[in-house]
Amino acid sequence: MTGFDSFAMVDWSGGNDTGPRPRKDAIWACVVRNGRAEEPTYFRNREIAEQWLCDLIASEVATGRRLCLGFDFPFGYPRGFANALTGSDDPMQLWEWFERRIEDTPKANNRFDLAGEINRRFGGKGPFWFNGLQRSIDGLPKDKSDYQNPFPERRVVELAPETKGSFSCWQMGGAGAVGGQVMTGLPVLTRLRRAFAGKVSVWPFEVLDKPVAFVEIWPSLTLGAGPDGRIKDAWQVEQIALSLAAMPVEDLANQLNVTAPEEGWILGVSQRKPDIAPPPLRNDCFALPAGVNWTPVDDALALLRERLTVIAPAETEPLAQAAGRIVAEDIVARRSNPPQPNTAVDGYGFAGAAPEGAQVMPLHPGRAAAGIPFDGTVPEGHALRVLTGAALPTGVDTVILEEDVNLQDNHIAFHGPLKHGANTRRAGEDVAEGDLVLIAGRRLTPADLALLSATGIAEVSVRKTLRVAVLSTGDELVEPGEIAGPGQIFDANRPMLLSLINRMGFYPVDMGRVVDDREALRDCLNAAAKQADVILTSGGASAGDEDHVSALLREVGAMQEWRIALKPGRPLALGLWDGTPVFGLPGNPVAAMVCALIFARPALGLMAGEGWQEPQGFDLPAAFEKRKKPGRREYLRARVRDGRAEVFASEGSGRISGLSWAEGLVEIEDGARHIKPGDAVRFIPYGSFGL
Ligand code: AMP
Ligand code: MG
Repeated sequence: MTGFDSFAMVDWSGGNDTGPRPRKDAIWACVVRNGRAEEPTYFRNREIAEQWLCDLIASEVATGRRLCLGFDFPFGYPRGFANALTGSDDPMQLWEWFERRIEDTPKANNRFDLAGEINRRFGGKGPFWFNGLQRSIDGLPKDKSDYQNPFPERRVVELAPETKGSFSCWQMGGAGAVGGQVMTGLPVLTRLRRAFAGKVSVWPFEVLDKPVAFVEIWPSLTLGAGPDGRIKDAWQVEQIALSLAAMPVEDLANQLNVTAPEEGWILGVSQRKPDIAPPPLRNDCFALPAGVNWTPVDDALALLRERLTVIAPAETEPLAQAAGRIVAEDIVARRSNPPQPNTAVDGYGFAGAAPEGAQVMPLHPGRAAAGIPFDGTVPEGHALRVLTGAALPTGVDTVILEEDVNLQDNHIAFHGPLKHGANTRRAGEDVAEGDLVLIAGRRLTPADLALLSATGIAEVSVRKTLRVAVLSTGDELVEPGEIAGPGQIFDANRPMLLSLINRMGFYPVDMGRVVDDREALRDCLNAAAKQADVILTSGGASAGDEDHVSALLREVGAMQEWRIALKPGRPLALGLWDGTPVFGLPGNPVAAMVCALIFARPALGLMAGEGWQEPQGFDLPAAFEKRKKPGRREYLRARVRDGRAEVFASEGSGRISGLSWAEGLVEIEDGARHIKPGDAVRFIPYGSFGL
């Protein structure tokens, strides 16, 4: 697409002829050519406006100018409507459909009748509402009190925060309503498109490769009422035309670059592009404050929290594939739950409260069941059989439980009083359309999927699952199942860490074992950085001769030795390898697990997009005695029995059996403490770390 030479913006109106004198809430248009605006034009009715548009297109096409022609009404309806009427999702077919049915003259048009006719196909309570005429129209509700909309209330573009205040195209009348504009506007656009076949493309449904583009605008997106003394509509069309004409071609191309195949879109409302990769981490992201010998645990955690950022890009997934994934953007309900008032019980429905005393009511023929609405009106004073989940039919707003009813001779009898609205659920009483249902960072639970599905969300923007590579280092390590010679031990850390990663909801990448050889480790880190977002190593993280993890990270200049005031724990080596964060955990399995839970887990969560998650602990009476010196935070392998926290008999950091025995950790603060049985201690269950 190249740029446009002229811009014409039109403020449409669904009303009748507004007379000879220019006035507001009529049709206004303004043309800008070569950056200069003509005087806005007033049209007293649509017939004149249509002729003018026809002449305008003809003249621009004849002179070879590309014309961007904007209209301030929706080019499409919310999802599903086009298909329900025409059998096709293609909005152009819906345009034709309206063009065949709308009868429009300067004095009158049939839009309210057509709205009623459409509504009657769907049970007669929606999607359209507001009858602007004196006479009543079958199927077209006057107001929203008994309104039921089988389609979404709004288009996706109208859920964007910047379109707050826009009107729904279902509202057929009232100040500012656009329902009438769409119905009277689309037939005009359809005829223009036909008259200039091959010369017009409609945005965003068609590629804009023709001389004329129809685009949807909404002046109030960016403009207020304008200066005193000017008619708002005239001023707005002039301003929009001027600003579009002044916009750099690439910027306009960006604004036009949207996908909204069925509902259409408003020019200027951004479609968020969730797949942009977040910025990489900085090389010094793990730098600890200088001059501190042993960094307190809380300081180290605060530093991780402050320096790390989300590194997992977002992608869109269907709901069924989204369980356990992390929500990338806040999610807003597309549909209310329940979508319409319905009955909470099996019983009999009627209108209004029932007074004290015995009630007898004639039974109206038919019934309403879940998914099978009753399409008729229940007369005043009559009752209808209703089943749980059924939409309340017209004439029913209160339900009596079937157990409380005597049924005889086509009548029901029961004891009043019964409150108005008893045993029914209000539309949106759980969640209203447009409500924020889940916020970014949420890891989707089974219950969340129910909530999203019920509120009309079919796909969600979620983070790609963080890939975490795990490797073990040490000449002494052999694989379980292999023959272990003297001095050799089986690799205990790798299976533990891989499973830990998996349980925390990340994607584990097994990089195997590496001997204490710098080149072998270098190759392994290179391979890991290619395959994963984060690398966890165990062993070789201190400053000794065979501590190659720290040596290599130091070599590339991105190594930080973390000496944390923590027991159990040896120094951690943190750094970036080829831009990929590396957590060099201690080799000792107890220290490796504690450091993975306390440091790696919240850091991984943050990078994965779930925000900083503090493990949730709670205070319990101790079942043990312990004296602790000041200076280090301690984590003891612990479990709860009879409401008291027990700790493992030995604090030896090589005791893997204690890790397995434990069901969580007891956390003892940095200062000195003498814990006696019965004193409160903080217990953090493994489950709090996501295990
Ligand atoms: P390092 O940090 O490499 O000095 O190792 C500290 C201690 O942890 C040594 O006793 C190692 O043998 C032991 N160790 C290191 N890696 C593992 C592992 N993957 N499984 C079990 N023990 C290990
Ligand atoms: Mg080692």
